[in-house]
Amino acid sequence: MRDPRYDILFEPVKIGPKTAKNRFYQVPHCNGMGHRWPKSMAEMRGVKAEGGWGVVCTEECEIHPSSDLSGGTLMRLWDDSDLPTHELMVRKVQEHGALAGIQLVHNGYSVSNLFSRIPPMAPSATAARYYDPVQARAMDKQDIRDLRRWHRDAVKRSIKAGYDIVYVYAAHNLTLLMHFLSKRHNQRTDEYGGSLTNRVRLVREILEDTKEVAGDDCAVAFRFAVDELLGAGGIECDEEGREIVAMLAELPDLWDVNIADWANDSLPSRFGDQGHQEPYVSFVKKVTSKPVVGVGRFTDPDAMLSQIRRGVLDLIGAARPSIADPFLPQKIEQGRVEEIRECIGCNMCISGDMQSVPLRCTQNPTMGEEWRKGWHPERIEPAVSSEGVLIVGGGPAGLESALALANRGYEVVLAEKENILGGRVNGEARLPGFNAWRRVVDYRDYMLSQKANVACYKDSEMGVGDILNFGFAHVVLATGSEWRRDGVGRANHLPIPIKDTPVISPEEVMAKITGNGTLAQGPVVVFDDDHYYLASALAEMLSLRGAEVTFVTPADNVAAWTHNTLEQKRIQTRLLSLGVNVICNRNIISVDRGRFSLACSYTGATEVIGAEALLPVTSRQSRDQLYHDLQDRSGEFADLGIKSVTRIGDCFVPASIAAAIYSGHLYARQLDMPGDLWTDFRRENKWS
Ligand code: ADP
Ligand code: SF4
Repeated sequence: MRDPRYDILFEPVKIGPKTAKNRFYQVPHCNGMGHRWPKSMAEMRGVKAEGGWGVVCTEECEIHPSSDLSGGTLMRLWDDSDLPTHELMVRKVQEHGALAGIQLVHNGYSVSNLFSRIPPMAPSATAARYYDPVQARAMDKQDIRDLRRWHRDAVKRSIKAGYDIVYVYAAHNLTLLMHFLSKRHNQRTDEYGGSLTNRVRLVREILEDTKEVAGDDCAVAFRFAVDELLGAGGIECDEEGREIVAMLAELPDLWDVNIADWANDSLPSRFGDQGHQEPYVSFVKKVTSKPVVGVGRFTDPDAMLSQIRRGVLDLIGAARPSIADPFLPQKIEQGRVEEIRECIGCNMCISGDMQSVPLRCTQNPTMGEEWRKGWHPERIEPAVSSEGVLIVGGGPAGLESALALANRGYEVVLAEKENILGGRVNGEARLPGFNAWRRVVDYRDYMLSQKANVACYKDSEMGVGDILNFGFAHVVLATGSEWRRDGVGRANHLPIPIKDTPVISPEEVMAKITGNGTLAQGPVVVFDDDHYYLASALAEMLSLRGAEVTFVTPADNVAAWTHNTLEQKRIQTRLLSLGVNVICNRNIISVDRGRFSLACSYTGATEVIGAEALLPVTSRQSRDQLYHDLQDRSGEFADLGIKSVTRIGDCFVPASIAAAIYSGHLYARQLDMPGDLWTDFRRENKWS
């Protein structure tokens, strides 16, 4: 059972008229499912409640069609017709003894109301947040009265749906209430603008309305960004942030505090550690007697304990740690701390919301699949045969496949050619800020070490003969991929003509990252046509080790896809501040003796730059020769007792680490089961 040191984490906490059974609090977080995929969303929340979270909240929930996040997929409570979605979610959460919370929102100028077509509203007239050709109009007194009525109505509906906690939400720089608090957004001259007292007025009124409607039926939480990291241009924790908490200190039943905007709140591990918000939020408990919840990518129970003991927080808030391991509380409670699947802080989960599709998680392949595929993070169908599975390759795909197959009860042998498990993660985790990504390997390595039915062999390169003679019924090739050296990617479908210029591959750079020596002699061009994190991380590494780096990309900005993981701005800022020469909107069309010809992505106009080497990060080729060589011998399979040979992960098709883990898990779930590997999932079709 649990270590008594952690008893404090399991103490109940009173939140207004409700009591959370412990201090584990899943704060509101988006998931890309919301009102579009309600059964998927509700099942996902229910699994977290089952995993021991004392409170499980929704994502932000629009209270009115004038806060219409269409284009994104969040929750919606415009009228009673939305209630069944909420009732389902509440039931799924409460049946495991957790409290269900709802984060009500009006997004003001942060939405363009593309579906409802209602002109957006803001404290003061302003352009809408995104590049839609829409402006927001300044709210008049009637609008303010309407907003209060809509919020009260939404609270009534929340109570009808059975929620235990209702939120008033002024955080992330995303909500109308936060915009009223903000000097830069609120330029009103009436009693709702100007002095801080005036700017706080609407939040106070809505909190009072909410308390009044909530009565003893539910608790009222206030989610507030105490700092925006904008200096004097925004809310600062030592200035107005603190004053606002002091002014409203005893009004809500719970303070849920963080820093804005979302990219600061959900800081990726590349840019900050566990508990990074503490310097900003730690004052709150000194100003209010009400319980305080805060986040910080907490996965370590000792760090959680320290937050409580030192009086920083009363409840350990978590979004990402609860996604990576919905059973984190239960594992601590049952003394299985080593089994926690720790979040790596990659923010792949956030890309689901950004792209309006069900979230996925690098560490937890079952995330978002709870209803669609019926996958549970801790339970799996038992094996239906006693056949053995040979897995070739110990990267993320091979490791996850081995673990899931072992959990099913198959006999598994994993053979890895290197003297270390982990595949691509071994190199990538050595890049600056990527240390936490090792958890992908460490978690699986540890879990596999606990299994009697798995053997992992390192230094074991497998050839065709070894595999054919192994004697196992199923062969899984998880042999990964290699970065191309010829520049083929999105902008160049044919190899770039490269003459008399050294080409360094990402793998070669990463292999050299030991000690502190230089990684490249002379100036290097890093060519990013991949647009995720790797090119920028390599450029950063080379620059830190003294190389002169020019970063060329056909995209409008560095690491363009990382907008989806909330990293793009920080990545580009970091490269620029390191002195990396960033050249966007340029493709490399040829390289000759260190002369790089670049073509403008728009006009095609060319220019020439000089460097001594090229590091292309463009696309990868599957390392699948072994697979094809085996297929050439498929006529021998039956006699040798081989029933299947399957490629998984990057060996099948190169993609993210999350995709490799998903692929490995999918294979393991599906082995010996009926149905198609990829298409066998349920759909939420309202007409069926
Ligand atoms: P993925 O992301 O799909 O898991 P990785 O490239 O991270 O792919 O991992 C692939 C792993 O397979 C690497 O650790 C590599 O050393 C290993 N590998 C490749 N070929 C063989 C082989 N013939 N025998 C054993 N291991 C191999
Ligand atoms: Fe953590 Fe990455 Fe999973 Fe998100 S996707 S929960 S950041 S491991």
